[in-house]
Amino acid sequence: MTTLINGNFKSKDILSLDQFSPKDIEKVLKLSRKMKVIATKARPSKILEGNIVALIFYEPSSRTFGSFSASVKQLGGQTVEIINPKEFSSVNKGESFEDTIRVFESYCDAIVLRHPQIGTAKAASEAAFFVPIINAGDGAGDHPTQTLQDLLTIYEKFGKLDNLTGVMAGDVLNSRTIHSLLQGLSIFKNNTIYLLSSNKLRLAKNDLAKYKKTDIKIIEITKPDDIPSNANFWYWNRVQKERFASTEEYEKAKKIFTITPEFLKKYGNKNMILMDPLPRIGTIDPQIDSDPRAVYLRSQIRNGMYIRMALISLILGKDKKIK
Ligand code: ASP
Repeated sequence: MTTLINGNFKSKDILSLDQFSPKDIEKVLKLSRKMKVIATKARPSKILEGNIVALIFYEPSSRTFGSFSASVKQLGGQTVEIINPKEFSSVNKGESFEDTIRVFESYCDAIVLRHPQIGTAKAASEAAFFVPIINAGDGAGDHPTQTLQDLLTIYEKFGKLDNLTGVMAGDVLNSRTIHSLLQGLSIFKNNTIYLLSSNKLRLAKNDLAKYKKTDIKIIEITKPDDIPSNANFWYWNRVQKERFASTEEYEKAKKIFTITPEFLKKYGNKNMILMDPLPRIGTIDPQIDSDPRAVYLRSQIRNGMYIRMALISLILGKDKKIK
């Protein structure tokens, strides 16, 4: 069992959305709005002055990595950045994962970790003696900071995180962003999510069973004709190539429903927003980008930096300094 936030973020690991209550999420979103002011008005900030955050990324990332790096720097902190330690560090000499974590915690105040295997953020939190771990994506498992950014994006548009209807499509089986967003929305009351995927890429049975016990209503569909006309948001995610055992397996599974102007016209509605955690590969036709409903290259991206600024300040106990 991971430690619940329970109103107090200081020194806590952030491994999964199941540590959060609605109040905890609201606290991050509220602080993110203040961070937006700091970032967009280019107000010099010293909130994290003297703090160092290590970014250890065992798996390719540009957005999440860049977003964490920028978040710390926006607040006057510094980063130690280790990309692909398997190739460039003592991991290459055979050093254990636990030792790598213990070495790097000596250099910093928090570790942001991305890893291709489910459960590694938790393993890191057990290995670390002194500093909190922030999960920046562990295989097909969780991606809590992406979800906080997605929740902020939804909240900005609808002013609530309950009583919403959404469609999540693509690689429902392997997408950690879909898994974490489902978890995030299940904390709030009366949300209904349609999961659109081929039979091969359906949500795992144990995940489905887990959500049956929560307040979220999940409806699995395989045809766009079953998309509800009243959806508040669509959340599309690419087929996660790196999670397939072989290129052959990936090729067999990779076909998903792309959002084209025709598709949007037929199944969409005027008030919805279109989201994608990116990179978009086969998910959304670039012709959609100029549509005002398309938030994926606008607020959804920027919100990622604001919520990471907020979260890191809370974990390092610096949030009181923010006016
Ligand atoms: N960037 C997101 C992630 O790290 C989504 C994706 O890669 O498809 O999971």
